[in-house]
Amino acid sequence: MRAMAEDVVTMEKIVSLCKRRGIIFPSSEIYGGIGSSYDYGHYGVLLKNNVKAQWWRALLQERDDVVALDSAIIQHPRTWEASGHIAGFTDPLVDCRHCKRRYRADKLEDGQCGEKPSKCPGQGPNCDLTEARNFNLMFQTTVGPVQDEGSTVYLRPETAQGIFLNFRHYLQFSRKKPPFGIAQVGKSFRNEITPGNFVFRMREFEQMEMEFFVPPAEAERWHEYWKQARYDWYVRLGIRSDHLRLRAHEADELSHYSSATSDVEYLYPIGWQELEGVANRGDFDLTQHAKYSNQNLEYVDTASGERYLPYVIEPAAGADRATLAFLCDAYDEDQIDGETRTVLRLHPLLAPVKAAVLPLVKKDGQPELAREIVAQLRERMQVEYDEGGAIGRRYRRQDEIGTPWSITVDHQSLEDATVTVRDRDSLQQQRVAIASLADELEARLRAPWSSPKLS
Ligand code: ATP
Repeated sequence: MRAMAEDVVTMEKIVSLCKRRGIIFPSSEIYGGIGSSYDYGHYGVLLKNNVKAQWWRALLQERDDVVALDSAIIQHPRTWEASGHIAGFTDPLVDCRHCKRRYRADKLEDGQCGEKPSKCPGQGPNCDLTEARNFNLMFQTTVGPVQDEGSTVYLRPETAQGIFLNFRHYLQFSRKKPPFGIAQVGKSFRNEITPGNFVFRMREFEQMEMEFFVPPAEAERWHEYWKQARYDWYVRLGIRSDHLRLRAHEADELSHYSSATSDVEYLYPIGWQELEGVANRGDFDLTQHAKYSNQNLEYVDTASGERYLPYVIEPAAGADRATLAFLCDAYDEDQIDGETRTVLRLHPLLAPVKAAVLPLVKKDGQPELAREIVAQLRERMQVEYDEGGAIGRRYRRQDEIGTPWSITVDHQSLEDATVTVRDRDSLQQQRVAIASLADELEARLRAPWSSPKLS
């Protein structure tokens, strides 16, 4: 196994590769950018879509006790009173009277002094920090043409509440009874005091959350179950297990709604950080919404007559943080013909492009045959055609976006209807009949996979 110290990845390298290859880049750059907003380019969209698709797959396709939802971002403002976000969704904020910067009081060790960036806030020679005060992270806006108190609404800071608001509907039309889950993927918004570390902490980000409703007596067991299931999901998609851990929250870290939370943490280049939280929310949310809406949100078992407010186990993941973890874990460099190659050793299921079809030369019928192969493969997977430049450079381009297989069409292809398949990680080339190429790639795509960085 490769020792951790040999891992060549740094956040700077990830940021620069993402920009170079149009994966993720700062938003609104023509106007000088807007702090901590990022846009996903073509390959970034494909990659993040694959992450989300695998999440949906694990919850919907591979089991039958979870159903899907896509709720509105702007919800009735009472939602946030009931959920406790208006009163309690705050971070402690401190100002520096000297440099006028603002910091999160509980994350000073991650911040930089405005005057002496090598020091943490509070440790520079002239730092003069105020006492901490609570700062609410919700973005406010107004709905309708009249701006008055009644028109204030909030951009949701988490997708979870949309699930609780719809719980009763789901009891009626999904024909599910506890234990069952409702899953949702979508944008959330938090006016973070100190966003940063690329897409790790943004003000606008995407969450993948599931609320799993269980009989209260089963809550602890399901909490254990989902902690392990979510950890395993990352490992199955190729994250090295020595870069992943489950960490239980200390009592003083727990959110207002949670009786127990464990984070799935990943060893990012910036250190161990939360990738996903798995919380036991008890019946906090349903109790609150029942109270504020005057609706009965109990589950009633028609057979036994038993009624209760289910407890909720919530695995709450970030699509951007997960994408960043997959990128960091995949990033590698090696030497080919005396040159350093940058390669993303992504799980093939996550790779933005599965196969690149490359004619060796731009003549002799090779481009035409290559295009036929593209047409055949695109029925089954995301493929790309590239005829520009030396073959070595085209391979490197694909390596940098993590394409697992490059298909080369050469003069022999026109004679015996075979192509070479180059493997991104082993660099081995294998001749494969064009007729069986799609099946061959599909089989490789479905095969169990572990990171070559482990060997
Ligand atoms: P942190 O302690 O890092 O602020 P959190 O505990 O507030 O995170 P949760 O409320 O548990 O985060 O949100 C669930 C998931 O949503 C997180 O594990 C993370 O993956 C993602 N997430 C939360 N805030 C952000 C953000 N500002 N930018 C990107 N992803 C985020």
